[in-house]
Amino acid sequence: MHDHTHELAGELAFVDCNGGALHGNTATNEAAAQAGGGARRQVVVAGKRVKTIDVHAHCVIPKALELQGKDHRQERGPGLGEVGSRRLREMDEQGIDVEAISINPHWYKESRDKAVEICKINNETLAELCAQHPDRFVGFASLTLQAPEVAVQQLEHAVKKLGMRGAAIGGSVGGTMEFADAKLDPVWRKAEELGVLLFIHPQSTPELGNRFKGNGWLANTIGNPLDTTIALSHIIFEGTLDKFPGLKICSAHGGGFLPSYGPRSDNCLRVAPEMDTGVKLKKKPTEYIRDMYYDTLVFTDEALRHLAHEVGVEKLVIGTDHPIPWQADSVNHILNCSHFTDAQKRMMLGETAGKLLGISPEF
Ligand SMILES: [Zn+2]
Repeated sequence: MHDHTHELAGELAFVDCNGGALHGNTATNEAAAQAGGGARRQVVVAGKRVKTIDVHAHCVIPKALELQGKDHRQERGPGLGEVGSRRLREMDEQGIDVEAISINPHWYKESRDKAVEICKINNETLAELCAQHPDRFVGFASLTLQAPEVAVQQLEHAVKKLGMRGAAIGGSVGGTMEFADAKLDPVWRKAEELGVLLFIHPQSTPELGNRFKGNGWLANTIGNPLDTTIALSHIIFEGTLDKFPGLKICSAHGGGFLPSYGPRSDNCLRVAPEMDTGVKLKKKPTEYIRDMYYDTLVFTDEALRHLAHEVGVEKLVIGTDHPIPWQADSVNHILNCSHFTDAQKRMMLGETAGKLLGISPEF
């Protein structure tokens, strides 16, 4: 397909499979998508095609949900139980070349045996689905974090035998164990040793369910970013990131609320020294924030600019939330943002994620 790519130095272009190059603005691109009749959108920045990689894409494995008496058709997201033609068609329209697929952890409160069975089905099935389209999909492993010693083996098996690129985890282990708990250290040690990415996706904050009632889907709208904020704050303040400095972590939804208000964490123990439990951190909390990765699912130019300023533009990767329609135009969000250079846009669109997930930039 790269034969059709037109070289347009210094400007953006979208090129469809029929070889038609269109200059980069949203209106012409949408027109191209409609006229193209399912053509795969190719994303080109400054004359160079970029392999775009989405780190935040969901699926469920119907067979695993059935073990909990759940029907995948009741889950939110059209096509959530499918890793095939429908998903590919939508990716083609959006200009997403590769999805790193994760399964939200719905088994943390199950018994160890049942959770092991669910994760086995998830990992084997997702690996099979990815293998059918190895140039379009990679997978994150499911782990039974409530049984950390099993999770260590699952992670190693998933990466070494099933070709997974890391693991998808929640924001805590079902609200009963924080990721800073030393019981989970062997899991983080294994992830660090393997050099694979941990993708943190929140699971709301069910403890606040009463306060989330009413209009606005608050359990998700603010419950999810809050869950991520709590998860990251614990691994920062308890010194988990000092123990595992090589750990690669990427959080969904731009890291929730934490990167937008990070400096508060640098000042809390100055204001309330009696709340210091004696953990000696090697760095300021905001420095740990800059050590981690985040997706770009923050909607506006200004939010993306601020996120990049707080965490570093080299820490940002596309997150669409596909097939949940939070943001269907993540590629244009980056392409059309006036605050970044072409090189920075290429990093966010795919170069950084490619390095994290072991995906070649070549087509
Ligand atoms: Zn999501």
